[in-house]
Amino acid sequence: MGRFSRLARWTAARFVPALRQTVRCSACGREKAGVVHMVAGPGVYLCNYCFEQAATQLAVRRPPPNAKRCRFCRQLRATDEVTTVGNVLLCADCLGVMDVILAGTKPDAGDATSALRPE
Ligand SMILES: [Zn+2]
Ligand SMILES: [Zn+2]
Repeated sequence: MGRFSRLARWTAARFVPALRQTVRCSACGREKAGVVHMVAGPGVYLCNYCFEQAATQLAVRRPPPNAKRCRFCRQLRATDEVTTVGNVLLCADCLGVMDVILAGTKPDAGDATSALRPE
């Protein structure tokens, strides 16, 4: 009867918003109850099984113990991947994004304020 209850829940979820908030892995569709861990990102979830699969495809890069947090992307970065100007600490990735922004900014374009991401 598990098949029926699944259908019943799916049907009910169309009318009851709270039932729709079942957290599922965005990669495999497993529900939170069926996995050991579920990691939430911005509008995306990844279960521990999919993490393990991804980790076999790409070497996991952990922030070192002495990592610094970039003021722009808020990510922990190795000390040789960050620099400071004044009291602003920023990382090589954000410098790269800024480089692209500044390269597309003409000196006479007026207000050259750009956001790395929409506020
Ligand atoms: Zn998954
Ligand atoms: Zn950064």
